[in-house]
Amino acid sequence: ARILQVSSKVNCAWHAASPFSSSVPTVKLFIDGKFVESQSDKWIDIHNPATNEVIGRVPQSTKAEMDAAVASCKRAFPAWADTSILSRQQVLLRYQQLIKENLKEIARLITLEQGKTLADAEGDVFRGLQVVEHACSVTSLMLGETMPSITKDMDLCSYRLPLGVCAGIAPFNFPAMIPLWMFPMAMVCGNTFLMKPSERVPGATMLLAKLLQDSGAPDGTLNIIHGQHEAVNFICDHPDIKAISFVGSNRAGEYIFERGSRHGKRVQANMGAKNHGVVMPDANKENTLNQLVGAAFGAAGQRCMALSTAILVGEAKKWLPELVERAKNLRVNAGDQPGADLGPLITPQAKERVCNLIDSGPKEGASILLDGRKIKVKGYENGNFVGPTIISNVKPNMTCYKEEIFGPVLVVLETETLDEAIKIVNDNPYGNGTAIFTTNGATARKYSHLVDVGQVGVNVPIPVPLPMFSFTGSRSSFRGDTNFYGKQGFQFYTQLKTITSQWKEEDATLSTPAVVMPT
Ligand code: NAD
Repeated sequence: ARILQVSSKVNCAWHAASPFSSSVPTVKLFIDGKFVESQSDKWIDIHNPATNEVIGRVPQSTKAEMDAAVASCKRAFPAWADTSILSRQQVLLRYQQLIKENLKEIARLITLEQGKTLADAEGDVFRGLQVVEHACSVTSLMLGETMPSITKDMDLCSYRLPLGVCAGIAPFNFPAMIPLWMFPMAMVCGNTFLMKPSERVPGATMLLAKLLQDSGAPDGTLNIIHGQHEAVNFICDHPDIKAISFVGSNRAGEYIFERGSRHGKRVQANMGAKNHGVVMPDANKENTLNQLVGAAFGAAGQRCMALSTAILVGEAKKWLPELVERAKNLRVNAGDQPGADLGPLITPQAKERVCNLIDSGPKEGASILLDGRKIKVKGYENGNFVGPTIISNVKPNMTCYKEEIFGPVLVVLETETLDEAIKIVNDNPYGNGTAIFTTNGATARKYSHLVDVGQVGVNVPIPVPLPMFSFTGSRSSFRGDTNFYGKQGFQFYTQLKTITSQWKEEDATLSTPAVVMPT
């Protein structure tokens, strides 16, 4: 009922009674500019993670529906690619305004389906909005290059041109931000786009699609299909899809990278993480402890940039009791409840997995200093809640260190020196984000130069780059060679064409064939 309430305000038509069963609203497909009911006989329930009530159903799109969506993208491509760059920019300028006007509505949908707090959901939309604003810089960032008089009477120029139909496959943890890393960037370059949102949180993407249509994006420039493996395989294999943007787990990302690449597509894949916060004893203690707690437990740890591992160096290990006290004070509640600091995990299976990883700690010799496994949230007894949990005495060979936990769990290691800490970080297979906390510039410089991690924060716990830079990631956290957004986003969604022109004066015409390579 709340989805209907939310969506009616923006006149969205994607949740209507399903012809197949029950009164649970269904999520529509978006094909050729229309929100249409799927004819699929396979549906997936969407749950409110705070209650586990079924709040909607999303179809596993049929092959015919997915074919229709790609055909629509393909039909729309020539005219869209031919639209003036200023017109495409205008669509996005209107879009960013509509996102701002509907920010709270999108955030409410996110909290309902994903569980994060409303304030954090607004941040999710806001960070995506910034990428839309960045996409409006297309007029400078899509510029090619020129070189006059490369040889006599000859000039060279290059154009950045769209690829054709591009596709996006998104995870559950940022229902607005991550789709907004994808289709606005691709479309402003002149591509058309096939989006597959996470089957667990499709609502925000559907609302964003409606707002894009209201901003003037022509029919067929964005199509949306739903589903899981079949939809993913369809995207990897379809010959009319030229590029895939993926964000999610390593299991899915490595598979998509390989399968998509095998079919000749460009693929960029942002994947899992184990982000370390290295705490030096000279750090500003008050700031550092607050930053660590916020970055470890915010969004219930379901962020790829969550600071899920602390390495306390030397005397900083004495700060552990205070860290625990601060984490204890966080309020766990349904995301739409006032004062909630963190909400539930996405599914009961996610909760079980996180609890099993916590269990593994003491079995392998670690100590649980704060245990969130048994938390009860009044009024939300069926929700997937885990309270803030801190595991200390952790060693790099333990399961709770090796696995990405993706829950409100901070694992704590200790070292005597910075060098030992750097070795731990670089021996970990992931290279998404990291932070060092120190008041010593030389220590900060040494750390940022020696760690092999894509995004490094110096007294910044979650160093997600603003959109004029690119979101990076090294080693197992990224596959591909061109990153999301920033200048690299424009490179990913365009291909180069060079034009070499020679305009000779009449009296300089060639008198004989030129049969050798010019030197
Ligand atoms: P996920 O891999 O389960 O799902 C992502 C997408 O892939 C979904 O659309 C899903 O339908 C599809 N998918 C799932 N399993 C698949 C499979 N076996 N084969 C093919 N497709 C599959 O990821 P998630 O649980 O939704 O998201 C959490 C993960 O995403 C975490 O590992 C997190 O670190 C990562 N993440 C990374 C970044 C980043 O920028 N590096 C950002 C956000 C999330």
